[in-house]
Amino acid sequence: MHVIRTIKEMRCLLKEFRKTGKTVGLVPTMGYLHEGHLSLVDEAKKNSDIVVMSIFVNPTQFGTNEDLDKYPRDFEHDERVAKERGVDVIFYPDVAEMYPQPYFTYVVTEQLSKVLCGVTRPMHFRGVTTVISKLFNIVQPDVAVFGQKDAQQSIIIRRMVEDLNFPVKIIVAPIVRESDGLAMSSRNVYLSPEERQQAPVIFKALNQAKRFVAEGNRKADEVVKLIRDTIRGASLAEIEYIEIVSPLTLEKVETIDTGTFVAVAVNFGKTRLIDNMILMD
Ligand code: AMP
Repeated sequence: MHVIRTIKEMRCLLKEFRKTGKTVGLVPTMGYLHEGHLSLVDEAKKNSDIVVMSIFVNPTQFGTNEDLDKYPRDFEHDERVAKERGVDVIFYPDVAEMYPQPYFTYVVTEQLSKVLCGVTRPMHFRGVTTVISKLFNIVQPDVAVFGQKDAQQSIIIRRMVEDLNFPVKIIVAPIVRESDGLAMSSRNVYLSPEERQQAPVIFKALNQAKRFVAEGNRKADEVVKLIRDTIRGASLAEIEYIEIVSPLTLEKVETIDTGTFVAVAVNFGKTRLIDNMILMD
């Protein structure tokens, strides 16, 4: 497995792979790898010859009061598990390599980045779409794999790829969960033992909602109420939003239909957890 730290070396190496006709799959991450990230590697391996994983804690997607400095990092661990899982190349640039100063150019997917997480994190998706555009230009992958865990992010990236004609196929892989239902996330390490114990209430509430819809209840406000009541049962949970939205526009819907999904953000102490579920397949 190659570990590459500069754009120049990355381009050189990829040129060699392409000469032999190999296709390239990209898995963008911020590292501190868990099984959710590694499931994306499996998906990339199924769909391309060479798997490139980027590990970059992208400063432009963090707000000023967010956790950029304390975001968990462990490159040695990441390198080991990525290799074991069959990653061919890790792209591990530093901030100066990705954002040499002065830096002025950003990519924005307008409406979609202002709702849901965009309300409390107004610059977040601008940072995501910018860094992903840069990675697409650096790696020029045939396919790129993202997780359904960050549903809004994958919808925005699909839109950006469509709108800006990036020649890459986007694959979205299912959410990987802990055995008690908590969606895996690098940020779960921030949870205190008590918060960790209560956090699966989110999955419980989403499942309950899905069953309620399967029983024929299709009014979004009633489903939101059910989810809110269940999550409020956990004393440490502070709900930021619970929204039932269209997968195309991320606009709120009144009536649940095929593909409609619920997205939630819940704070446990200082840890912000997000999750989502398609309510009608
Ligand atoms: P991150 O390192 O948090 O930026 O995540 C990198 C990629 O892994 C994103 O496409 C995420 O959606 C995906 N991902 C993170 N957690 C999970 C999970 N539990 N299941 C599936 N994909 C995930």
